[in-house]
Formats: sequence, structure tokens, C-alpha cells
Amino acid sequence: MIGVAVLGATGSIGRATLEVLKLHPERFKVIALTAHRDIDRLEAQCLEFEPELAVLSDPSAALMLNRKIATKLPNTKVLGGKAALVTAAELPNVDYVMAAIVGAAGLLPALAAVKAGKRLLLANKEALVIAGKLFMDAVTQHGAQILPIDSEHNAIFQCLPNTSLEQGLTASGVSKIILTASGGPFLETPLDELPMVTPKQACAHPTWQMGRKISVDSATMMNKGLELIEACWLFNTTPKHIEVVLHPQSFIHSLVQYTDGSVLAQLGHPDMRTPIAHALGWPERIASGVPELDLSTIAPLAFHTPDTERFPCLWLAAEAIATGGTAPAILNAANEIAVAAFLDHSIGFTEIANIVKNVLNIIPSEPVTSLDMLLETDARARAAAEQQVYADKRN
Ligand code: NAD
Ligand code: MG
Repeated sequence: MIGVAVLGATGSIGRATLEVLKLHPERFKVIALTAHRDIDRLEAQCLEFEPELAVLSDPSAALMLNRKIATKLPNTKVLGGKAALVTAAELPNVDYVMAAIVGAAGLLPALAAVKAGKRLLLANKEALVIAGKLFMDAVTQHGAQILPIDSEHNAIFQCLPNTSLEQGLTASGVSKIILTASGGPFLETPLDELPMVTPKQACAHPTWQMGRKISVDSATMMNKGLELIEACWLFNTTPKHIEVVLHPQSFIHSLVQYTDGSVLAQLGHPDMRTPIAHALGWPERIASGVPELDLSTIAPLAFHTPDTERFPCLWLAAEAIATGGTAPAILNAANEIAVAAFLDHSIGFTEIANIVKNVLNIIPSEPVTSLDMLLETDARARAAAEQQVYADKRN
């Protein structure tokens, strides 16, 4: 039996993971489930999966959950607080950790899983954007394994040759990675209407059902920017070798171009259960519950080049990874604050990019020397972004 911890179990990826795990009771055992403060959903998941450990990072929510399940589930321990997320990731009988917390809050538990030598199923791209080199060095040092859950990176992983991680992409005959992007809900919206779009419109993604933060990131295309950075770290490459292509239907999840002219693509329904099942089963293939793709219903497939004026966040992210050092961490922190401010109606949609840009100008990038300095930079960038939100509200 493979022991699994699902961090961020109540979210969109967490729930999809539990659906796949449920199809394979003879293979996987859920050991730990975590969430932020969604007591009711975590309670229902505990009743169904009977984990050894349930964590709510909000301590008062954890007390309430404990009161609710103590007599019903005497073998499930309930812990509260951020440190307990790390405990869940490190449990000795956990083999695989699904990192599906949203944002920087997921960094420490994901890193703890790596340091404990687990198989990390990485959905939480922000962790890699913030701490890329440190994270990948820890993977090597502790003999951990990362399997990408982001559909694009999972597709690329499937299309790359086995030799690519050891020998590098060029020596393996790969000339380019082609990262596909749906373009989100505002691909055709007139540019002068973008400042007025609402959080509800931004979260209505045309092809994917996702959490609110990543939905807004998809609408600004910051999501593709974060994914560009994620791909550089996962596949040990540079933005020069990655091309972003708009493909609104989201059936092709990404492609790899080889020097002989071959292009390998991975196709599938836009349903996260496919990459989740791939990463859980790898190197075997296991059922995901996703229906077969009927090619006759998906044609014609369209591809375009992204528009710089419409999607400034994509280019800010590309600049941040080119700058290096702490720039991606600053970009991510400013974006998290700006997206939260947009979601609570404090700023307009197009202010997200302006705030990220201003914060990148205010806080200079520095070489990354430690995890502590990254966390300190993250806090400084958040404070600077909050100032910008406040300034924007006054105008
Ligand atoms: P979501 O908002 O639906 O769920 C987030 C989960 O994290 C919830 O369980 C929530 O309780 C928990 N959480 C939130 N804040 C927390 C905090 N401060 N401390 C501890 N736990 C916290 O998000 P999602 O759409 O499932 O996305 C999760 C991650 O996966 C993100 O990094 C996202 O970019 C990535 N991802 C998601 C999708 C998708 O289809 N949803 C696809 C690719 C990548
Ligand atoms: Mg993705």
C-alpha cells in the first residue's frame, strides 16, 4: 500500500486527487488530509477516508473539527497551525505527497516533503517559482522525486525522453518546449473593457474548473508566466527554449519539439484527474475516471501567438526569471496580494499587472542565499504590494 498525504485536500486539485485515489483502494491509503479553514468539507473527507491525521492551518478551525470528529473517528488525530502542515508532509508512512495548497503557504510543507525524500506531486507551482533552485537542489540532495501535476508540465514530462533529466534537453535532441495556454476568459474582450471586468467574470474560465486564485492568474496570463518559470526549474532549461502558444480549446496540454523536426504532444480532456493519475501511477498507467477523447469532436484546433498588450503579466514573469535571484519570489508575492485585492473588489483587473510591475521596480532582485532570505523578501514584497493597493484605493 502506498501512503498518500493530500495537502490542500478541500480545493479543486485536492478533491480531484481524492476522486482518483478512490478508484484504487487496493493501491493507495490516504494517511493525511489538510486544508486551511474549510471545516465541513474536511470533516466529510475524514469520514470517507479515515486518515491518521487531519490538519487545519487555522488553529481555531482545527479545534472545532476535533470537537466534531473526536468520537466518530477515534483514530484520526486533528492538528492545527501551519507547522502541522509540515508534520503531515513528513509522516513516516506517507510515500507520496500531493502539494495542492494555493500560493506561498504551500512552500514549507512541499519543501518538507522533498527533504523527507517523498514523491512530490507538485500542483503548487508558486512554491517552485519562489524557491526554484533551492527546491531543485533539495530534490537531488534528498533523493526525492517531483512529478508535475500542472497539466502543461505533466504533458511535457510525458513527451520528453527519459534521458533528458540526466543529459539535459539539448543532448537529448530536444530543441524547444511549447507551452500551451488557453488565454482565459478575456482573450477576445476589447482592451478598453478590461479595467471593468469583475471577479465573477475572471473566475468563469472557458475550459478549466479551478480555484479562484489560479482562475484570475489564467485571466491575466500570470498563470502562464508562473508556468514558464516552473518549466525552467523542472526541466532545467531557460525561457529561450520555451515558446508560449495560445490554444483556446485546451485539448493539447503542451508539446516538445525535437531537432529532427518531430513534435510530440500530449492530448486529453481538460480534466486534472489525468495528470493526477499519471503522477500517482508513474511509471505505470492507472485509471483516472476521465472519458476517452473523441478526436472527431475536438477539431479544428486553433493556435495563436499571445498579445503583449493584453497580457503584460506574462512578460513581467518572463522578465523576472531572466533577471533571476529573488525577482520571481517578488513577482509571486506581489501577484498574490494583487489577486486577493482584485477578488475582494479593492482594485480593478488591470491594476494587478501595474502593482506587480511597481513592486518589482521598488524591491531590487538579490542573489538567493537562504530560505530565510526568500521568506523575508516574500514578506517585504507583500507589504509593498499592500501599499500599492492602498494607494490605488485612494485614487
Ligand atoms: P483551491 O483554492 O481550490 O484550493 C486550495 C487548497 O489550499 C484548499 O484546500 C485550501 O483549504 C488550502 N489553502 C488555502 N490557503 C491556505 C493556507 N494559507 N494554508 C494552508 N492551506 C491553504 O486551489 P486549486 O485550484 O486546487 O489550486 C491549488 C494549487 O494547484 C495552486 O497552486 C494552483 O496554481 C495549482 N494548480 C491548480 C490547477 C487546477 O485545475 N485547479 C491546475 C494546475 C495547477
Ligand atoms: Mg497549468
